[in-house]
Amino acid sequence: MARYIDAVCRLCRRQTEKLFLKGTKCFTEKCPVAKRAYAPGDHGQSKPKLSNYGLQLKEKQKVKRMYGILERQFRRYFQIASKSKGVTGKLLLQLLERRLDNVIFRLGLAVSRSEARQIVRHNFVYINSRRVNIPSYSIEKDDIIQIKTKEKKLNRFKETLQISKDKAVPAWLELNQQDLSAKVLRLPEKEDIQQPIQEQLIVELYSK
Ligand code: SF4
Repeated sequence: MARYIDAVCRLCRRQTEKLFLKGTKCFTEKCPVAKRAYAPGDHGQSKPKLSNYGLQLKEKQKVKRMYGILERQFRRYFQIASKSKGVTGKLLLQLLERRLDNVIFRLGLAVSRSEARQIVRHNFVYINSRRVNIPSYSIEKDDIIQIKTKEKKLNRFKETLQISKDKAVPAWLELNQQDLSAKVLRLPEKEDIQQPIQEQLIVELYSK
């Protein structure tokens, strides 16, 4: 699966807002958005008024960048959401939030979604006792997620949990810090997503 491998801070600067793609570094004064809250490039400081289309496009880019996915996969999520019963925008966010890499990040077992993706890829994650190494795997209600590896490596996860201790685990997940496992209590709702997202703009964009 193709993925973005360039400097991630550029994505935040292009978006002119913090997307928290680098974990703890995002909370320091070194964050480039904190230092220069305008887009990169020669014309970055000019602020043209965005058209409705521009706003829709910007919101879509923001969500794609937050979850670290590319256009093709994002569009596929939209198609699934629009064909399912319910409100398309909410279903789209739910599909993104249910991704296994996002769940590992939300649990505080990784400092960023890109680190969470690596953890999944490196075979540390088991769901209902079966190893799953697909970052886009969509978790279901009542799934049991567990980190399994050698004792020495388990400490790394415990250290990450310490780093993320101020970050609340979302209400739809229940974390057991002792054995590094978690239960999916219910599927996520829009209210469970910390960063503000105007999903309606994305729905309008793709519905043209
Ligand atoms: Fe974005 Fe974090 Fe880089 Fe700041 S430090 S620009 S929030 S990725």
